[in-house]
Amino acid sequence: MKYRVPQLEPYIGQEELENLKKVIEKKWLTEGDFSREFLEIIKDFTGAKYAVLANNGTLALFLGLLALDVGKGDEVIVPDFTFNASASSVAFTGAKPVFVDIDEGNLNVDVEKIEEAITEKTKAIMPVHIYGQSADMDPIMKLAREYNLRVIEDAAEAYGVFYKGKHVGTIGDVGIISFFADKTVTCGEGGVILTNNEELYDRLRYLRNQGRLESGSFIHPQLGMNFRMTDLQCAVGVAQLKKFKEIKEKKIKNYRLYQSLLKDLEEVSFIEEVNYSNFVPFRVPIRVKNDLERLIQHLENSGVQTRRFFYPLHKQPCFNYLGYKDDDFPITNKVYSEGLCLPVFPGLKEEQIEYICEKIKEFYQRGQK
Ligand SMILES: *Cc1c(COP(=O)(O)O)cnc(C)c1O
Repeated sequence: MKYRVPQLEPYIGQEELENLKKVIEKKWLTEGDFSREFLEIIKDFTGAKYAVLANNGTLALFLGLLALDVGKGDEVIVPDFTFNASASSVAFTGAKPVFVDIDEGNLNVDVEKIEEAITEKTKAIMPVHIYGQSADMDPIMKLAREYNLRVIEDAAEAYGVFYKGKHVGTIGDVGIISFFADKTVTCGEGGVILTNNEELYDRLRYLRNQGRLESGSFIHPQLGMNFRMTDLQCAVGVAQLKKFKEIKEKKIKNYRLYQSLLKDLEEVSFIEEVNYSNFVPFRVPIRVKNDLERLIQHLENSGVQTRRFFYPLHKQPCFNYLGYKDDDFPITNKVYSEGLCLPVFPGLKEEQIEYICEKIKEFYQRGQK
């Protein structure tokens, strides 16, 4: 089906094409000049001392966990409300993901629940900066110091998000950002791992490039894998990073328009905006008081592509083996049953947002017939 308003459209065009042309003309496809430039811009913007690329956000998390030496017998605390990859990356190291409930207002992890979940096996905490706002990092870092835990930040959705002036992903031991097609800036697929710790940076470099520091040598001092990107992707990425300010401003403008158009509709609410973080909307997550499923159907029938909220991890069939009880996660269960994401991509037109909001109002004002 062709949607009248799709959920997503990347903000790409002439600048990306021109950079791609340069890569083809230069005949250098693997990591090269564009990859270096991509990393330099990211380091400069985020303030991270060190950064390495990875194939995508999921593998960046996996690589970060390997660098922290997370593995069999360890536990890693993950919010119950996030994309599945936050936890599957933990499971693939052999460690056990331990889920904790979230804050109902801003949908980020509930820090008090983290402390309750710490055991003698806990090795790390993984805060996830959900939907474009930072988790509350100070109390998380305090817990990590108290219990001697590592912190790996999942900032997949949070390029351009700052916690009290620090870019997310640079506060814990390591942090990752994704450049998947639906993220704020994209290369199609791609990821980066940030750290300020030189020792971890060295581990990451060996692990990502076949256990050696320089390509071209066939001597491998350590065991490593291939987590490289390509200059084709980074050529697109460099163009994207240079447009970030424009992307961010358009997304915020779109978000605010939804808020003003829906402000009088009491069935709909927006997430709480916290004072310790700026906001770069990843989507427009709304909560509705009733009839979520039928509202989704109404929007889909009207040509609006919607996305539900993330399915709580404790309910995921793939994590059945962890044996969680549904009642232990009242907040994620509740927000999942009320939550819906509307499109916010930069190229969205005002008329399209007006159309979506009209359809939502029409649905509730007609008494959900
Ligand atoms: C997108 C996303 C990931 C995974 O990133 P990919 O680049 O798609 O592998 C991980 N965590 C969160 C919270 C995400 O939104």
